Amino acid sequence: MKNVNFQIEATGDKYVCPMHPDVTSDKAGKCPKCGMNLVAKK
Ligand SMILES: [Zn+2]
Repeated sequence: MKNVNFQIEATGDKYVCPMHPDVTSDKAGKCPKCGMNLVAKK
């Protein structure tokens, strides 16, 4: 399961849910868990 984190980074996690750090995306969108807008990571 340690590979999971690596895969998430490899796919590009430019956007992340403020409430769910494990929910990331390479483009803007909404969190599937809570529906909040994803915010750009720094
Ligand atoms: Zn969320």
